[in-house]
Amino acid sequence: MNIVVCGKVIPASSVTIEIDPNTKRMVRKGVPHELDPAAASAVEEALRLTEKHGGTVALVTMGISDATIGIRNALAMGVTSAVHILDDAVAGSDTLGTAKILAAAIKKQPFDLVICATESSDSYSGIVPGQIAQLLGVPPMTFAKEILIEGDRIAIKRQSESGYDLVESTLPALVAVSSGINEPRYPQLKGIMAAKKKEIKVYTAADLGLPPDQVGETGAREKVLTVGRPPKRQAGKVVVDAGEGGKQIADFLAEIKVI
Ligand SMILES: Cc1cc2nc3c(=O)[nH]c(=O)nc-3n(C[C@H](O)[C@H](O)[C@H](O)COP(=O)(O)OP(=O)(O)OC[C@H]3O[C@@H](n4cnc5c(N)ncnc54)[C@H](O)[C@@H]3O)c2cc1C
Repeated sequence: MNIVVCGKVIPASSVTIEIDPNTKRMVRKGVPHELDPAAASAVEEALRLTEKHGGTVALVTMGISDATIGIRNALAMGVTSAVHILDDAVAGSDTLGTAKILAAAIKKQPFDLVICATESSDSYSGIVPGQIAQLLGVPPMTFAKEILIEGDRIAIKRQSESGYDLVESTLPALVAVSSGINEPRYPQLKGIMAAKKKEIKVYTAADLGLPPDQVGETGAREKVLTVGRPPKRQAGKVVVDAGEGGKQIADFLAEIKVI
């Protein structure tokens, strides 16, 4: 089974995220990076599936040159090979541009299953996996808390408010795993050494057949108009109970239409 994992490499959790006021983009250059913990769970799930059913795991990531550290981490965990889309022309891509780039890179290799995380830990839009599935023409199976494969059939336990729904499909398919699906393994020394010899293919948008008007800032249909801090929370209302505290709370809840 050939599995492709889409994994983002993001500013490390120790970094305080800054937004450039001119470009309104996250400042990514010059800060330490790491494999998104959500992506590490997607990698872990792919590795467990291939350990059980055989096959390969390829990581696909779009990111700046600093993303190499996260790619090496995935390779050290046991991923077979990696694709890095590294190109100034893709900077400023919106979610659809990102999905077009990732889908084009996935199509360059045989795949039975694509695994994404439900949402990234830096931008959290949660839109990209569905867009990739649409572009690849495969069913999106989202919020998976467990993946079961038998032959060419796949089933997921799809997290719901009351428990889970069982969702089935034939392969190929795309699964977006929910956070907490597993505890990703730490790379061991053997894996770290082996990772140094593993291949990282580097592609530009042009290599993927994507013209400039489809990707990057030029191709972006979403525009960030303004970025700001949320307004400070107002101080709460203090109710001093002098015998009518309960009534005052009930009146307050009625006033704000909670009851
Ligand atoms: C106008 C605009 C300009 C932007 N400019 C930039 C920019 O210059 N540089 C920049 O980095 N971001 C930029 N962004 C943010 C960028 O669009 C998002 O980071 C990207 O679209 C993915 O969104 P997300 O992380 O919220 O995806 P989600 O939908 O939350 O991601 C879910 C999953 O999709 C997969 N995935 C998502 N992104 C990647 C990736 N890059 N590589 C591999 N797998 C991935 C992963 O499995 C991830 O867990 C911009 C956004 C907008 C709206």
